[in-house]
Formats: sequence, C-alpha cells, structure tokens
Amino acid sequence: MPELPEVETVVRYVRPNIVGKIIQGVIPQNNYDKVLATHTPKRFNKLVAGQSIIDVTRRGKYIALNFDNGFLLIHLRMTGRLLLKLSEDDKLKHLTAIINFTDKASLYFKDYRKFGRLYYYDSMDYINNKLGVEPLSKDFTGDWLYNNLHKNKRQLKPLLLDQGFIAGLGNIYVDEALWFARLHPQQISSVVSRKKSNVLHAAIQRLLQTAIDNQGTTIINFYFGEGEKGNFREQLQVFGRQDKKCPRCKTVIEKIRVAQRGTHICPHCQKI
Ligand SMILES: [Zn+2]
Repeated sequence: MPELPEVETVVRYVRPNIVGKIIQGVIPQNNYDKVLATHTPKRFNKLVAGQSIIDVTRRGKYIALNFDNGFLLIHLRMTGRLLLKLSEDDKLKHLTAIINFTDKASLYFKDYRKFGRLYYYDSMDYINNKLGVEPLSKDFTGDWLYNNLHKNKRQLKPLLLDQGFIAGLGNIYVDEALWFARLHPQQISSVVSRKKSNVLHAAIQRLLQTAIDNQGTTIINFYFGEGEKGNFREQLQVFGRQDKKCPRCKTVIEKIRVAQRGTHICPHCQKI
C-alpha cells in the first residue's frame, strides 16, 4: 500500500503535468460508480467540471487537486495508480475512473483491487479533522511526539499506524522507524523514554525524507509514471527481511503479527 513517500512521489509526478488544466469531466469506468465516494457521478461532475487545477498537494495519503472552489481528493488505497497515458499493457478492465481535461488530455485512475476512491470537498476541513499531524511539517516536533506518546496508552505499532495520530505512516516505515529506535511494536507508548522517543522522531523524519528522495519503496505494486519503481527498497533494514540478519546485531529478523499486520522485528534489538 502506498504510504506518505509513495503518495508524495505520485503528487510530484502528476503536478507539473496537470496544473493549469481545466476539468471537463470525471467518468467512472467499468460501471464502477462507487469510485466516487462523496457524490453521484452527475453531482460530482456538476461540482468539478470547468474547475481549473491551481495546485496538486498531499495530506496524509490523500492526493488533493486544488481548485479555486473546493478539492478533488484521490486515495490510492492498495493498488491505485494515476497514469497520464495508457500503454498497451494497461488492461481497461482495471480502470475505475478517467479525469478528462478540456485540452483533450486525461488522467487515468487504474486500480486492480478497486479500493481507491475519489472525493469532492468544498474545503479540506473534513480531512484535516480526521487526520493527525503531518510528520514532515514543523508541527511534528520531538516534544510533540514524546507528549503524545505519553497521552496515549496504546501499543506503538497500531498507534503509529493510526492516521488520526500521525498522517501518512504505514506498515513499511513504522517497522523501520521502530527498529531504528530499538522499540518493540507492542511496547505501550506511555512508557517510552525521552531518549528513545527522540530517536524515533528523528528516524520517522529521516526515513520519510530519504524515501521521498528515492521516489518511494516498491515491494509489489507501487509504480508511478510509466511503470517506474521506487528505489528505497534496498535501504530497508527490517521490512521484508525476515530470516535475514539484523544489520546491527546479526540476530535473525522475525516476522510476527501485531494489530493484524505482518511486523518485522529484531528480537534482540527490540525488546519490550
Ligand atoms: Zn538487532
């Protein structure tokens, strides 16, 4: 599933190609009207047709096409992809929506698993109220993390995955960050020391920024542009490396289940 760096990579790919374009219409494909999560196709089109894209931004794992009036949000979920053109390999049955522009260009939403959605909101308030802090913003400070780990008394992994706590983290970067901070994913957040909280804070920011610089991580199904992969995979320390050695202490990395998610830990470095 695309996480913050992968979504940011998609934003940076589409932004220069669609800013300034005017929406002609948004057409669900393959009778999949529910790809439009907030309105019927008719109503959705009334709201977005004729609107000019003034910017493309990201909030958490949402891509936001900014208009003068309102926002068209896109969530890729598991397998959603945005394409500027279709290749011969792209199966039309996997398209869930096409955004057509008045200059005849299109943005194709291809989604094999079909969980991805488009939304229209007249302001970002609804999303901002639902999502927690942006981890690469100045609001996400060492103090913020320490105080909020202690306000919550939850296991670290489900807390860090909670989009209402920190927006944009997912399975890959949470496993990596907890390994860097030598924290067990089932550790209760309120007992994390200030020192480890600071390491975790720095690790989250460094991982996300480095992953963005590497255009994300491709494990199975993240691609952007014309089938390009993210290059961060080779820098992963624990995620997907079960049965290999911990880069720090050479103990064999284990895959366990935490909060219904496959979770990678070094049992020596990450003790409760
Ligand atoms: Zn280790």
